[in-house]
Amino acid sequence: MDRATYDVVVVGGGAAGLRAAIAAAEANPAASIAIVSKVYPMRSHTVSAEGGTAAVLRDYDSFDLHCFDTIKGSDYLADQDAVEFFVSKCPEEIVQLEHWGCPWSRDPDGRVSQRAFGGMSVKRTVFAADKVGFHILHALFQTTMKFDNIHRLDEFFVTDLIREGNAAAGVTALDMRGGELVRITSKAVVLATGGCGRIYEFTTNGFIKTGDGMALAYRAGVALKDMEFVQFHPTALPGTGILITEAARGEGGYLINKDGERFLKRYVPEKMELGPRDILSRSIMSEIREGRAFDGPYGHYIGLDLRHLGEGTINTKLPMVRELAEKYVGIDPVNELIPVRPGQHYIMGGVATNARGETSVPGLYAVGETACVSINGANRLGSNSLSECLVFGTSTGRAVAEYVRKKDWPSGAAAKEAVLAEEARIYDGFLKRERGSETVAGVRKEMQQLMERDVGIYRTEAGLREACARLVSLRERFAGIGIADKERVFNTELTTVLELDYMLEVATAIAHSALGREESRGAHSRTDFPKRDDARFLNHTLAFRADGAPRIEYLPVTITRWQPAARVY
Ligand SMILES: Cc1cc2nc3c(=O)[nH]c(=O)nc-3n(C[C@H](O)[C@H](O)[C@H](O)COP(=O)(O)OP(=O)(O)OC[C@H]3O[C@@H](n4cnc5c(N)ncnc54)[C@H](O)[C@@H]3O)c2cc1C
Repeated sequence: MDRATYDVVVVGGGAAGLRAAIAAAEANPAASIAIVSKVYPMRSHTVSAEGGTAAVLRDYDSFDLHCFDTIKGSDYLADQDAVEFFVSKCPEEIVQLEHWGCPWSRDPDGRVSQRAFGGMSVKRTVFAADKVGFHILHALFQTTMKFDNIHRLDEFFVTDLIREGNAAAGVTALDMRGGELVRITSKAVVLATGGCGRIYEFTTNGFIKTGDGMALAYRAGVALKDMEFVQFHPTALPGTGILITEAARGEGGYLINKDGERFLKRYVPEKMELGPRDILSRSIMSEIREGRAFDGPYGHYIGLDLRHLGEGTINTKLPMVRELAEKYVGIDPVNELIPVRPGQHYIMGGVATNARGETSVPGLYAVGETACVSINGANRLGSNSLSECLVFGTSTGRAVAEYVRKKDWPSGAAAKEAVLAEEARIYDGFLKRERGSETVAGVRKEMQQLMERDVGIYRTEAGLREACARLVSLRERFAGIGIADKERVFNTELTTVLELDYMLEVATAIAHSALGREESRGAHSRTDFPKRDDARFLNHTLAFRADGAPRIEYLPVTITRWQPAARVY
């Protein structure tokens, strides 16, 4: 196959992409929809989500309370109209998934169970044991198969967007099995490519989370919004970065230092282990700095204590936590502490969109972790992300279904040119290049260590300036990377280079956005500007690609009913 044509191309087979494809297929049965994914959809990062997905389902809860928790959690940077829309739509997505076969855990009386999660005032997180991502993704995946108008291109790596005039007109993709470059023409493109955690050295994210869609939109002139807000999860396993879900604390687990103390009483006395992730990660860093952490082969860590929960609760509510601890650290959490430390986990920022997934380019949409609507502001609450994929997947799918009804087919001329240009760039530029002065692993490692050190949990002006400058030199060194594998079939060395190209682009947007924000808010913690500064920075950051450094602009936050207040827990 060297070409294909669909009304809609959805790039990404995670929760956001699959939910958008289903919504588009339902809303416009005459439209043909392709899901293009660089991995088989069930291998998308969504599959590894563990803890749960948020929705108001009980009398003790309310939409206003879910809105308030989300907005306070965001350190008042979320757009409140978007949050109100989001919260009001979460419950119907839970019911819909139930109807599509998602096996939610249940209480003895038959109702769908809800558990506590960080920063949420009440038990609001719906779950299927601690394998929520697997069950959600599976329910969505099997549902896509019911639609004759949904087609799949598995293991097709998207390399560029095709534009005709100003509008999106498809994508170019590398068919990894055959190694050909394919032009996929369409009336609209939905980017659902997930996050970019692999820019960092220590992350809970899978290897495929390399910011591809963010870089593609950025190169097409769309702003990347609020990229300085990078979430660090407090409990990842040292060494591997494998996540130990917040549900472990939601079910009653403690965090303790080497003196056996529940140290969070000194940082978040009201919420303790159920404080938000940004504050908990900083609290752990303080314990490490002040010498109260354990020391192990992978550096300092603190203990996650589940022993008091008992084997029964651990087996029914947290079976995967037990399995991960046994397999990857060789300890049994029924009797021993789980070693944990903060690791990069999620990016609040992303491709600037509205609640219908629309970007500034006609026909180009973005949804899921790759997008920034924004409901997460400066810090996302755990379990809001899967719900975000579902709610905005639906609204984006419906919006794109309407758009393609009225849109004429692109002529295809731009697609032809685009594929020729990509063949020259990728086959002649990368594949033919003999051994270079640099390796992909070498440049990537330096980028990851740089981001961890200078654009990590704590930031300073000097560090951020250093990061911005070194990213320029890493970009120059990227040009010297050689590729040893000359085969076209499943050339993962080649796709790794393309991914590093995307990551360098996104890392630059993160570092410059962080340098511009001279305050501390949510996950962005500047030791040289330790206070939140609403007078100057109650704004979203917009980073536009430019020659040299990105151009940074600011956009006011939408406030509806919740005035900014001090964020204490
Ligand atoms: C370990 C872990 C646990 C988590 N637990 C929870 C939780 O309990 N609750 C919660 O709310 N959130 C959780 N999150 C966050 C949440 O899972 C993610 O934010 C969410 O699943 C992202 O879904 P997505 O559809 O946007 O992207 P993904 O699931 O990452 O899917 C991205 C898709 O894009 C495709 N793609 C990317 N680039 C290309 C390209 N160049 N060409 C073709 N295809 C491409 C990939 O193949 C993939 O199919 C967790 C995250 C992690 C890492």
